Amino acid sequence: MSSLVIRGGSVVLPTGQRSVDIAVKDGVISAIGSEVREEGESIDATGMMVLPGVVDAHVHFNEPGRADWEGWEAGTRGAAAGGVTTVLEMPLNAHPPTTTPDAFDAKLAVASQKALVDFGLWGGLVPDNLDHLSILHHRGVIGFKAFMSHSGIDDFHRVPDGVLAIGLKATARLGAIVGVHAESQELIERHEAEQRNAQRLSWCRARPPEAEVEAIQRLLVCMRGAGKGVRAHVVHVSSARGLAAVDSARRKGVAITAETCPHYLAFSEEDFERIGPALKCAPPIRDAETREALWQEVLAGRVDLIGSDHSPCPAADKQRGEYDIWQAWGGVAGIQTTLPVLLTDGLQARGLSLERIAQGSGRMPTSRSWTPSSAGRSAPPTFTHAAASVRIWAESLPARSCARSCVVAPCLSMARS
Ligand SMILES: [Zn+2]
Repeated sequence: MSSLVIRGGSVVLPTGQRSVDIAVKDGVISAIGSEVREEGESIDATGMMVLPGVVDAHVHFNEPGRADWEGWEAGTRGAAAGGVTTVLEMPLNAHPPTTTPDAFDAKLAVASQKALVDFGLWGGLVPDNLDHLSILHHRGVIGFKAFMSHSGIDDFHRVPDGVLAIGLKATARLGAIVGVHAESQELIERHEAEQRNAQRLSWCRARPPEAEVEAIQRLLVCMRGAGKGVRAHVVHVSSARGLAAVDSARRKGVAITAETCPHYLAFSEEDFERIGPALKCAPPIRDAETREALWQEVLAGRVDLIGSDHSPCPAADKQRGEYDIWQAWGGVAGIQTTLPVLLTDGLQARGLSLERIAQGSGRMPTSRSWTPSSAGRSAPPTFTHAAASVRIWAESLPARSCARSCVVAPCLSMARS
């Protein structure tokens, strides 16, 4: 039995900020109020903000199989340092990918042994694993990831629309959500044929926002025939137009949500041109105007959640794209910087409220229709505590250049020692 009391902080609650104490017992908040009586270790948070721990719904740790790319120990250490107390890990780029029950068991075994924060596992929806979806669901995957364009790795295949439609039908029957990488492979190929050269911006030109919007529209068509329980979550939406397509469907009652990522909010094409391979990702970094439109969506509360899409690789796989961007691995390693971006570029620069930050960084894609009891049923048991995790943040926000060092006491309640 371990207990902890955080006293005197300004706590960001769903109802607003209040100066209250928080008692934590065995990793779960046991009381919130003025002058809670619980004994135990005490932290004086006077003059500090106390925020809920971040739930990062989109990370790639690549273990088993490619642990040298990142691994659960290093990945969750970075998560904890960035105030992330729960990660939802993607079915690629570990090997084997999490598309079969055996692969799920192998990943769960290594994650259970090494993770320093709470976690959940996404399963994969690929053309040859429709028979495994039900058993993966019952093993405890939090949802199924599918790619409408090439995934960037050979062992995880994209789904043509027909397979996606069948997969959505199957997952609707299970009550499971499908996380979709929505970019049109056909449009990408057409643009790539015209645009591809060694210049960095040609990567962006080959994957324009239209490719994202067109794929989301086709996803919506696939959802239409999938039955009552169908739910989808569009991962890493990079443009306001993509978000608008999701939002207008949602207004008509479609069960669809969307996330964006800190790198689309923090960087523009000029940064990409200057920095190069480290910022290569898909969909690509957009122009400054698109980035500002994305911020407006975040400020207006129309983005369901912010996920890092943390996707590291060996340094050599980035370096080989220095002079030909097409040769670099695509993925941004940003697990530690989601909250700094939201605080510096959001709160400080654009007046994003702390409540909105807590809301956008604390949600799971499944949260819309999950209750705590159903979460406990089909997810790793640690899930049920996610909403109770806490973290302290210094009230004086540092400059952007030192944003990484401003987490002062991450994941008080949820990190396992
Ligand atoms: Zn990803």
